[in-house]
This record gives sequence, structure tokens and C-alpha cells, in this order.
Amino acid sequence: MVENIDSKVSQLRAAGALREALLSEKLDGGRIGCNICQRRCRIPEGGVGYCRTKINYHGTLYTTIYGVISSAAADPIEKKPVFHFKPGSHCFSVGTLGCNFRCVFCQNWEIAYADAVESTSSYCRTGVMPDILVRMAKENQCEGVAWTYNEPGIWLNYTLDCAKACKEVGLYTVYVTNGYATPEHLDTIGPFLDVYRVDLKSMEDKFYKELIKVPSIQGILDVTIRAKTKWGMHLECVTNIIPGWNDSEENLTKTARWIVENLGEKTPWHVTRFFPYGELANLPPTPPETLDAAVRLGKQAGLQFVYLGNIATREGENTYCPKCGNLSVKRERYETEVVGVNEHGACSVDGEELNIRL
Ligand code: SF4
Ligand SMILES: [Zn+2]
Repeated sequence: MVENIDSKVSQLRAAGALREALLSEKLDGGRIGCNICQRRCRIPEGGVGYCRTKINYHGTLYTTIYGVISSAAADPIEKKPVFHFKPGSHCFSVGTLGCNFRCVFCQNWEIAYADAVESTSSYCRTGVMPDILVRMAKENQCEGVAWTYNEPGIWLNYTLDCAKACKEVGLYTVYVTNGYATPEHLDTIGPFLDVYRVDLKSMEDKFYKELIKVPSIQGILDVTIRAKTKWGMHLECVTNIIPGWNDSEENLTKTARWIVENLGEKTPWHVTRFFPYGELANLPPTPPETLDAAVRLGKQAGLQFVYLGNIATREGENTYCPKCGNLSVKRERYETEVVGVNEHGACSVDGEELNIRL
């Protein structure tokens, strides 16, 4: 239960942060169901959801993070990482407070674990309405907007209004997500979202149960397929490889095979280096040999574009044509040069489809 709820609600309202939450349903006994993410919290009167960004106030569910920005930057899209959509462009990247995951190795815990009911006003910019966000993106010479840094899957009221505003002025839109949004959430924002950059942390439920407090990856996989097949979004997947947890040949192969079979062999897979943090501070960083093995296993499984991340690499971020080997896109520390791609996003030498949207 929230203490001094009346004054907190009026503060949030004054900051423009309070909106009646989308996808809520009234239940028995004054409880309200939130269907924005797969936790599907059932929140009693005066209570808050798991992510601490939804509050049941007098029988109505409110989101407390509308227009609340904890971080903002004009980033190269490659930093998300997204390599095959508008390569070399910048996207205005924003995050808010809260998360629906509790990863024991979270590096963004200051914003992800923050309580958006208690602490919004203390270290966030508030009142960043959709038209303001669009203006900021344009002023920073960005071609798109990305919701990132913390989980956009809890921010639907805001991301939806902003995504619509972006589409009106021709900005592209990106979710950098843990994939735990519900199908209803995805279908609500689907018409306005271009890129779905999703984490596939492991194919093993044990990983999700023990490190993230989520029962299974299955719902994430189902919604990821939906993003591709129902909404035609551009998809890229990331696996941060943690020694002893998701680095087995079996798990990496299973992940790569799942991508091939469900999203297609031309879907980019980013395998990134883990650095010890939080409750996993006792582990070593991912050995470079493990990352190289992941690239090999991904290619053996049939993936045509596997990239290394969080590690200095000479060629591990470049795109090569899988047919003729020609260099298609050259990348070095966020310097990106499109060198061998025709206007259709295919290889400029032999026309091989590269799944690149320019
Ligand atoms: S967004 Fe998810 S975690 Fe937050 S209240 Fe809704 S169902 Fe719960
Ligand atoms: Zn080629």
C-alpha cells in the first residue's frame, strides 16, 4: 500500500505524469488487472503493480510515468544495437523509471528499480509530452525515436501517443525490449512501431526463473513471433552471454535455431559480452573465445548475420553479403558506412537480399 497516497497522486497529476492506464480491467473486490505486460498484476485499492509504475487509486488504474524521462540522448541506432535498419542514422533515445523484470545483474538498476510513485519528481524531467519529444528528436537531427534504457513494455500510454506523433512527421520508432509485453500491448502499438529489438536471454526457463524472476521464456517467444508475422516489424535479437548461465553450446545453438525457424535466417543476432555486476559480480567477463564460439554456432545453425557486441573487434560488427562475401556495411565504434548495399537493401554486387532497410 502507498503511504500518503493523496498527496503523491496530486503531485504526479500536477507533473502531468498520471494517465488512466490502458489495458486495465476491473476485477472483484476493488482490484484492477493490468494487462500491459505478461506479469498481469492484480492490484488492490491503494496498491501498486510489480513495476511500481501503476497505481490503483479509488478504483481506477493509473500509470505514473507519462512524459517522465530519466535519460535522453541522440544515439546512433547501432548503439541499441540495431544494425539492419537505417544504418548510420541517429535515434532520439529515452527511458523512464521502473521495470517489470528484476534481473540480478541489472546495470541500469538506478532507473529500473526506482519507484515511480515515490521518486519521479526527484530525478526525472517531467511533462515531456509527445509533441515535445518529437521536437527534441528533430532538434537533435534524429531520424527516429527509441524507447530504451529501461523497459518500454511498461510505458504503453506514453510510447503509443509518441509513436503516433512520430509517424505523423515521418520519424521511425524503436522498442528496445525484454519482450515481456502482452499480445494486447503489441497489437495496440503494432501499427506504429517499426523496430523490435528484443533480448533472448536464454532458451532455458531456469535462467529466467532464477536470474529474472519470470517463470518462462515462452510468452516472450510468442510475442516476438507476433511482432514479425502480424505486424511486419524489423526484428533484431540480442543474447548477453553470461558464463555458466547461458553459454553452453546447446543453449546458444537452440537460440540461433529458434531465430532461424521463427524469424528467418536473415534476422540479425547480436551476441554481447557480459561484465560482472550486481549479484553476479563474482563471475568473470565473457571470454572472447566464448563469443567467437557463439558466432560460429549461430552461423552453423543457419543465421547469416551474427554480430559481436561489448567487445573491441576488427570485423565482428561489419555486414558481409552471405553469398559473395562483399562488404555491405562497415562499422567501427559507431562509425557506420554503407558501402555495398543497393537501394532495395540488397547486395550491390549480386542482389542477394540482406534484410537491410535503408
Ligand atoms: S506493466 Fe506489468 S508489472 Fe507493471 S503493473 Fe502492469 S502487469 Fe504489473
Ligand atoms: Zn553479394
